[in-house]
Amino acid sequence: MDNINNFKYLFKKISNIKGVGNKTSLILNKKKIFTVQDLLWRLPYSYDDLSKIVYIKNLHIGKLQTIKVKVIKYNFPRKRNLPNKVYCLDDTGTIECIFFNSYEGYIKKILPLNKTIIISGKVSFYKNKYQITNPSHVSIDETLVLKKHNKYSLSEGISNKIYNKIIAEVLQKIPNLEEWHSTEVMSYFNNIRWRDAIIKLHDSSTDEKKDTYYYKRLAFDEIFSSMLISSEIRKKIKKIKKDKKIFNNLFEDEIKKKCSFDLTTDQTKALKEINNDLKNREKMFRLLQGDVGSGKTIVALISAINVIESGYQVCLMAPTEILAKQHYFLAKKIFPKKININLLTGSTEMKDKKTINQSLKNNSCNIVFGTHALFQKKIEFKKLGYIIIDEQHKFGVKQRKMLSDKGGKNCDILLMSATPIPRTLVMSVYGDMDISLIKQKPKNRLPVITYSKLDEKISDIIKFVKNEISLNNQVFWICPLIEESKKVDQTSAINKFNYLKKIFPGKVELIHGKLTDQEKERILYSFMKQQFKILVSTTVIEVGIDFPNANLIVIENANKFGLSQLHQLRGRVGRGTKQGTCILVFKSNLSQNARKRIKILKETNDGFLISEEDMKLRGFGDVLGFKQSGIKNFNLADPIINKDLFDLAEKEIKNIEKNKINTERYQSLLKLHDQADILKEIV
Ligand code: ADP
Ligand code: MG
Repeated sequence: MDNINNFKYLFKKISNIKGVGNKTSLILNKKKIFTVQDLLWRLPYSYDDLSKIVYIKNLHIGKLQTIKVKVIKYNFPRKRNLPNKVYCLDDTGTIECIFFNSYEGYIKKILPLNKTIIISGKVSFYKNKYQITNPSHVSIDETLVLKKHNKYSLSEGISNKIYNKIIAEVLQKIPNLEEWHSTEVMSYFNNIRWRDAIIKLHDSSTDEKKDTYYYKRLAFDEIFSSMLISSEIRKKIKKIKKDKKIFNNLFEDEIKKKCSFDLTTDQTKALKEINNDLKNREKMFRLLQGDVGSGKTIVALISAINVIESGYQVCLMAPTEILAKQHYFLAKKIFPKKININLLTGSTEMKDKKTINQSLKNNSCNIVFGTHALFQKKIEFKKLGYIIIDEQHKFGVKQRKMLSDKGGKNCDILLMSATPIPRTLVMSVYGDMDISLIKQKPKNRLPVITYSKLDEKISDIIKFVKNEISLNNQVFWICPLIEESKKVDQTSAINKFNYLKKIFPGKVELIHGKLTDQEKERILYSFMKQQFKILVSTTVIEVGIDFPNANLIVIENANKFGLSQLHQLRGRVGRGTKQGTCILVFKSNLSQNARKRIKILKETNDGFLISEEDMKLRGFGDVLGFKQSGIKNFNLADPIINKDLFDLAEKEIKNIEKNKINTERYQSLLKLHDQADILKEIV
């Protein structure tokens, strides 16, 4: 009983903690800290251990440290703006204490000549000398105990001192919870328990936190709980039994004949996996993952025609109208004439909408293409058997399950994504789904050639563009949004548009975030129809649209983008049979990091490899498509650094699934990671 009450303590509002007043509580709320548990997850970013005396030669620049030194000389320049200096030394070196705005008398009093003094402060290194400017602590009494001090990243209005006090209060009260991990897992972490780990990470004198069992234990908890929740959802979906879809691939063969190409081995394999699922009694819940331009659409359409052959209706949703339209036209082209195909979007005329709705209701419409609106509006299907969602990368586990439920038991689900997820992350991001992977690109595809250019060489780029246009090719010109103090700045794109318009009159259009969706769609559509040559754009050009005639992409300020993002952008061109080119434009001399990134882009076209390299260079948190998209947000775990933990968690989950181990014991863990509720909602 006591344990349960203590467990509740973790979810107590911070305003109920001793020492947290209204003001502090509001400030913390702004930092998204609402409960004790939220407090615990904000680990200090550094630990200043002032109780340890450091030799001058061992000082770390930039850190708050304590030294024991003898005062040997003063320098009081008596000039405005020049600081007073005190020279000190220990057995290993010398250091200067710099004082701005302190009087001689005071300095002499706290730092008497020839006396040994304890000084704490932030250490810097200037003109080959160690310095401490305005020491935070000076004492002649060696026995005075200095305190450890954790540094947290906080908002204004709350000091580390107060925060440390709050944390100390909380740490005193956190419960020792019943262990949820197996003995094997526990031994991997030297039997470090949750409570010990939390306490240790908030209060320690060592610096190498990420290597300790304490850190790893908590990172593992985080990884494991996210995989566990996916696995539980997966189990629930697997229990649903549907009516098998029966078809003889009649239409499939017909469509394949109409295609100007043969499917690649990976496409064939993916299609086979999907077809098997459709024919199976288990409801399909599958992700079709493939790099940009790997040819996911045709696989989806062929599987759709099989579902239609079996007598069910199909609904294909794309993130934008133009993409929905593109898929619709493709289906019109390759599907047998007798198939009734419809397009339903926001701009569909009212009377057409009515007819389409009617045809969905009475099963005369076999397949409908549209945007997500298809789903929200009360559209009734007579016999919906298959939902395909293109280019999804914003659905979390919860939304996916809701989607699966909405279709009903006989409805198979296929999601398509071009976001390459590194291997380590697959189980925690998509553990609820089966995955089909298209790794190879179509045979005739020439890899996009990537160049880098300084922006002062714009005349070279213009020459290149002129040449492309003379070959009747189209060009993307990307200017990234520069976000300053929340005000979105479109000027770079607008300026470039005006500049290019003068050189290429009548051939340039501009798209940016301030346009309405309809305006955007109109411009993209006319670009698709090749009504103009150069599309200047902020990064709003949508993923997935196929412009086979666009062969050059110029990306300005390329250092503003991550590797994966550059790769996605680059994937807009070279989708036809012609050679695609990508020019990365940089403002000034390239940094080491930028050089590395260009090298990787030039060397490979493999999105999966690129995303892993991206994580290595920038850290997991900054990589497009993971944290920002809400797919996965780890506090501690890092898929590159903690690869072993991801592997261990995967092994443990598989073991649980295989041996049907009761997962009741993980309730507290799931609660701690805000996931117990998801499971409750998903029945
Ligand atoms: P994505 O996987 O990014 O959605 P798409 O399905 O839009 O890619 O395909 C990109 C282009 O590749 C399209 O023009 C499509 O017709 C073409 N394509 C697809 N599969 C093949 C193939 N096996 N051989 C040649 N071209 C293909
Ligand atoms: Mg696509």
